[in-house]
Amino acid sequence: MIYDIAIVGSGPAAYSASIYASRYKLSNIIFGKIVGGTITEAHKVCNYPGLPDISGVELGLTFEKQSKDLGAEIAYESVTDIKKVDGTFHLYTDRNNQYEAKTVILTTGTERNKLMLPDEDKYLGKGLSYCATCDAMFYRDKTVAVVGGKNAAVMSATMLSDIAKKVYLIYRGTELLGEPMWVDQLMTRTNVEIILKTLPIGLEGENRLERIKLSQPYNGEQYVSADGIFIEIGSEPNALLSNLLGIDVDEKKYIKVDQTQATNIEGIWAAGDCTTASNGFRQVVTAVGEGGMAANAIFKYLAQKSRG
Ligand SMILES: Cc1cc2nc3c(=O)[nH]c(=O)nc-3n(C[C@H](O)[C@H](O)[C@H](O)COP(=O)(O)OP(=O)(O)OC[C@H]3O[C@@H](n4cnc5c(N)ncnc54)[C@H](O)[C@@H]3O)c2cc1C
Repeated sequence: MIYDIAIVGSGPAAYSASIYASRYKLSNIIFGKIVGGTITEAHKVCNYPGLPDISGVELGLTFEKQSKDLGAEIAYESVTDIKKVDGTFHLYTDRNNQYEAKTVILTTGTERNKLMLPDEDKYLGKGLSYCATCDAMFYRDKTVAVVGGKNAAVMSATMLSDIAKKVYLIYRGTELLGEPMWVDQLMTRTNVEIILKTLPIGLEGENRLERIKLSQPYNGEQYVSADGIFIEIGSEPNALLSNLLGIDVDEKKYIKVDQTQATNIEGIWAAGDCTTASNGFRQVVTAVGEGGMAANAIFKYLAQKSRG
């Protein structure tokens, strides 16, 4: 079978593209292993219109159900390569499967930045996490640190303060940069200590993380004791497929798109957090908007092609 659209990624942009594609009667398949994509890391989503108070996981499941009900096929696989052969895209996956499609929408989102500390990988799963929503429950009544100063870090510290005994928020900047509403909420928590103008420079512990070395002493100590560290310092686009396909990207590797979400390669569109669109405002509302626009552009493109 040759699908009308192969949608690579399984976040909000992907499901929105699929929902619009199915309504246009375009056959489509979504590739991705995490149902809902990055939004599943959000403890709560309160800014998506119509669903005032929903967890990220629930929102992802709702998106997937709507896509499936309308006819999307779902492949819980990662796409490792895409080649254009005689005008058709061949997609190869990590399960050694091959699929064919007339067009492609890349909705591959972003990946978490690492602190780049020497022992970062050693402590992964042994006290170190990149997802507070996923791992917070393991730290009930323990002491944890969150690294970062923007929304993700502030939200994670707030959520962890409900579970852990003590939360340090360590940020290199001079003030927190999260949305004021989230920062205000964090400030009401009595078990949170904010350490500004400081960076973690080392992780130590026998079998698991036990303490974090700081770039400068805090309360006269070079270390804070912690059972867990949550790294929330932003993300960057996954550039594997855009590299392989020769797609134009900006200096930070975000895929350049025009006002229809088209890339520089005929037959390939991109939507959501991996693109330069929506003025860099990377949220669920913009991802679903871009996904819908890409499907609409493909509907017009395929209709024009079939007319010759
Ligand atoms: C902690 C946190 C809280 C947030 N809270 C909010 C909020 O309250 N409101 C809001 O609007 N936004 C929030 N966001 C931002 C929101 O999650 C993103 O803007 C949104 O998920 C972007 O959707 P997307 O579809 O572009 O990409 P993503 O959601 O990142 O999905 C892309 C998916 O594609 C997969 N993928 C990548 N490459 C491949 C491949 N080669 N093959 C198959 N699959 C692949 C990835 O694994 C990923 O699952 C939050 C983000 C975080 C981290």
